[in-house]
Amino acid sequence: MIASTNAHKIQEIKAMLQGLPLDIKAVNEVDPLPAIVEDGDTFEANAIKKAVETAKAVGYLVLADDSGLAVDALQGQPGVYSARFAGEPSNDQRNNDKLLDLMAGLPIEQRVARFHCVIAVAWPSGEVKTYSGSCEGTIGFSPQGDHGFGYDPLFQVPGYDQTFAQLGEEIKNQISHRSRALVQLKELFHQDFL
Ligand code: IMP
Repeated sequence: MIASTNAHKIQEIKAMLQGLPLDIKAVNEVDPLPAIVEDGDTFEANAIKKAVETAKAVGYLVLADDSGLAVDALQGQPGVYSARFAGEPSNDQRNNDKLLDLMAGLPIEQRVARFHCVIAVAWPSGEVKTYSGSCEGTIGFSPQGDHGFGYDPLFQVPGYDQTFAQLGEEIKNQISHRSRALVQLKELFHQDFL
């Protein structure tokens, strides 16, 4: 079960884990998702917390994704605060506007950024495994494209010269930080889960 209410994340994770001998659903398709305070300093700490606390509450195997964007010129911001960069409640448009404001005037060579993703899978016993992935790109000068979520309209992927929001889910799922973490999970599936 996936501990997330982000419909885009859930859709990407379900698409990428197709073929595994697991019935993958979002927790809140079955049980109320417990509220968890994401107060860790790292993606890994937050992913582990979300997975372990949810697995203990619901009593089955739970997968949680913690992810975000780190911009070199902003010393790694927004980082673990990516979802609430422009304050609560989380709002993609305001987050993107704030990022563009902070980066105004920076030339393309100073717009390097990386998406990071840590996937934690926890059992109700508290045992937990983590898998991580990153994807490097540059932050564009204005939002481009309608697909995806979060910072996708600003994140330009080298080799494609388009943003994740222009490329769409199929290509994003081949190269994204989330897909790289999930490839690791798939590679280690037999060792870690069977
Ligand atoms: P989380 O739900 O606390 O892990 O927050 C993740 C936040 O990071 C999202 O709200 C987005 O702002 C950003 N983010 C993570 N992954 C992606 C992605 O694949 N595309 C765009 N933004 C992302």
